[in-house]
Amino acid sequence: MPKVAILTTGGTVAMRHDPARGGAVPAFSAADLTAVLPPGAPELVVEEVCNLPSSHFTLDDLWRIRERAAAWAADPEVAGVVITHGTDTLEETAYLLDLTVPGEAPLVLTGAMRTASEVGADGPANLWAAVRVAASPPARGLGALVVLNDEIHAARFVTKTDTLSPATFQSPGWGPLGRVEGDRVHIPWRLERELIPCPRLEERVALIKLAVGMGAEMMEDALARGARGVVIEALGASRVPPWWLPVIERALAAGVAVVIASRCPSGRVWDAYGYPGGHRTLREMGCLFSPGLNGPKARIRLMVVLGAARDAAEAAALWNENRIEGEHRCQQSSSSCI
Ligand code: ASP
Repeated sequence: MPKVAILTTGGTVAMRHDPARGGAVPAFSAADLTAVLPPGAPELVVEEVCNLPSSHFTLDDLWRIRERAAAWAADPEVAGVVITHGTDTLEETAYLLDLTVPGEAPLVLTGAMRTASEVGADGPANLWAAVRVAASPPARGLGALVVLNDEIHAARFVTKTDTLSPATFQSPGWGPLGRVEGDRVHIPWRLERELIPCPRLEERVALIKLAVGMGAEMMEDALARGARGVVIEALGASRVPPWWLPVIERALAAGVAVVIASRCPSGRVWDAYGYPGGHRTLREMGCLFSPGLNGPKARIRLMVVLGAARDAAEAAALWNENRIEGEHRCQQSSSSCI
């Protein structure tokens, strides 16, 4: 029987309604969470890293989860690692692990949209599915995966799409890599993994979402506060208003990395326009471009790249060198029963 490590970090999956507080609050220990798993589960080792709503996580918390996941993933007796997590920021932790934790052991993140006090609580089923995926041979080498609602998503593409639905996690434009189907873990798609070894996160990275007619004050403000990187969720396939160009120019001249992502839920950032503020202008100025990542994940990648690089030139080289876009996806047919 393979051994699976479960790291618990909190989130709705560990919450129940508390009448005194008028709502759901963290309630379950790691042992309580795993007590619901059926007999015949793989051998489990369980560690509670923290018990917080994921909206309360600091970057130090994220790094601590990364360190613990990396330690378990390096244990040769552990087939895979499950991380229970609040759904609000789960995709960012998943992508950080995907990008920075080496090894073949899958890192499977899961959570719940309904607390244990609600009818149809999805936590136990999601946890059980995540354990089975973590123990399954086809998940090996796939990096970080997000398993909820019986779907298996790649950390790079998955995002929380709905505020309340149990089917909230989707990979827009790509779909899931696989599914948990009754007694079977089926993963017909594989994704080439990108790893960037890094000793720390550069925390001084801002994320700014653009909207029509918006002034560039937020970017000015980020620079004034000492940002080392700025991710702009730009309009469409990578456009900013022309009045943003001077501040972007100033940031680049000061060695601040500027990454252009898109506020669209899916798609590559590239366009064929020649007017000011389009992709061409931004590329010629020296901006970097998100390899199909949404704004929050492009921010994680920039924090990793800036944490690993010694200067702006090295950061730009690392950013571009490691770009993997969706076309590296290839088909494979394999499945596993456990
Ligand atoms: N508030 C929760 C969190 O910790 C939401 C969830 O887990 O679904 O992110």
